[in-house]
Amino acid sequence: MSSTPGLPETGRTTAALLAELTALTSGDLPTRGGRTAAYVYDSGRPEVRAAATEAYLAMLEVNGLDPTAFPSIVALERSVVGAVASRLGGSGATPGIFTSGGTESIMLAVKAARDARPEVTDPQLVVPVTAHAAFHKAGAYLGLRVVPVPVDRETFRADPAAMAAACDDGGTGGARGTSGSTVLVVASAPSYAHGVVDPVAEIAALAADRGIPCHVDACVGGWLLPWLAEAGAQIPRFDLSVPGVTSLSCDLHKFGYAPKGSSVLLFNDESLRRAAYYACAAWPGYTVVNSTVQSSKGAGPLAGAWATLQALGAAGYRELGRAALSATRRLVKGVEAIDGLHVLGRPDATLVAIGSDSLDLFALADEARTLGFFLQPQFSLDGMPANLHVTLTGVSQAGVDELLAVLAECADRVRPLGPPTPPADLVALLGQVDLTTLDDASFAALLPAVGVTPQGAEPPRMAAVNRLLDALPPSTRELIVTRFLAALYSPYLDSPQPDSTQLDGAQLDSMRLNNPSLEF
Ligand SMILES: *Cc1c(COP(=O)(O)O)cnc(C)c1O
Repeated sequence: MSSTPGLPETGRTTAALLAELTALTSGDLPTRGGRTAAYVYDSGRPEVRAAATEAYLAMLEVNGLDPTAFPSIVALERSVVGAVASRLGGSGATPGIFTSGGTESIMLAVKAARDARPEVTDPQLVVPVTAHAAFHKAGAYLGLRVVPVPVDRETFRADPAAMAAACDDGGTGGARGTSGSTVLVVASAPSYAHGVVDPVAEIAALAADRGIPCHVDACVGGWLLPWLAEAGAQIPRFDLSVPGVTSLSCDLHKFGYAPKGSSVLLFNDESLRRAAYYACAAWPGYTVVNSTVQSSKGAGPLAGAWATLQALGAAGYRELGRAALSATRRLVKGVEAIDGLHVLGRPDATLVAIGSDSLDLFALADEARTLGFFLQPQFSLDGMPANLHVTLTGVSQAGVDELLAVLAECADRVRPLGPPTPPADLVALLGQVDLTTLDDASFAALLPAVGVTPQGAEPPRMAAVNRLLDALPPSTRELIVTRFLAALYSPYLDSPQPDSTQLDGAQLDSMRLNNPSLEF
């Protein structure tokens, strides 16, 4: 009998498995405490986490594939969707879908808009350039052309007139049933990158004038902005009650503080929800009818989201919103007081982009990581500068002074470096390598030369890679990160295999020697 890698011959104990998970996750960024300023949303309340965990496990084996077989999921989904709709300008009767996340909500909103206009042969999506990548992904998956429209250079808000000008309404100048190719217009509330809310009312009204639906991407802000408004923040109107808004996405696995895998997509029209659905009877098995991309799916995320909403309640969210808002105000004020740092735009939500004209932010992020804070690098695009992203949640308040102290300390540390210098030699050398034909082993062999530290090195130094990516055009960035992901899941990063590399040693050496910027 031969053994199978990754599969023990005899079953292991739960204790052994959990011990292994503990060891494995010890190298991860912390998911609690607010020092990981992206990706994770900690309510800081053990009893809420316990409710979500227990509810998730209680529904672990239920299959969301068939709501007639498991009516419990219909009840839970109606409860969750109803709560989100009622808070966001709709009611308990608003049509909606519970999805696995923001990307799936956006994917389905785009599918609904496309399928509501079956006569359009070249459907297009008009988005502010600051819109989330999920719209580009939806365009790529669903065969729509994405038209990114520049935003205001100072405020990073979408420009309604430019958005309207980018719409193809078929020249009918209005009236529903337009023959134009634009099937959906998008506004963010707020944008992830800069935390600013687009002028939703103007964009939706201009779209409606042209007979075009408007989706509000409130993935990150939908379950945050209403509580910030209650805490006194000036929040422009953005929800389903705004005339012209036809759909809205709101993630619960962000500021809903629910376990990952939970988002809600709302429609102002029941026929749009039907256009998001998918049915198939063209095979001999069970007739498929799905509300989401997934077919068989766990009910855990739905139960976890429901339990989190019930366990926190409005008062809980109100308190977390208030704390996140005061943390953000402290951070914005504190950042402006640090020599060389500033905040990009004026964030409406609790997401902050920290920019600099004089400091190497990528090096600063590496330094901050050695001091226990993860700040997320965002690259320059279309005249918008590179920056470090910070999402502040309900637990951030307790650590905001420490974060400011870390930012000040790290700014001092990197000040002698000056602004980041684009690694021109490395960019030129990369130009000599055909990234489309290089095999995974050879690509992996390149990585140490561009400064990627081996897996497990603590903490990783990313500045050299980030400077390189920031200096490259977006299409090359996409190519490189795709290659990197494949390399990460290949065996070659653990044990580089120089024999199999398509690059000669001289090429690798010259990359190393010609790139002094790797030494920081
Ligand atoms: C997070 C986010 C998304 C995508 O959500 P996922 O849950 O990561 O798929 C879309 N839009 C905005 C504004 C977001 O912040």
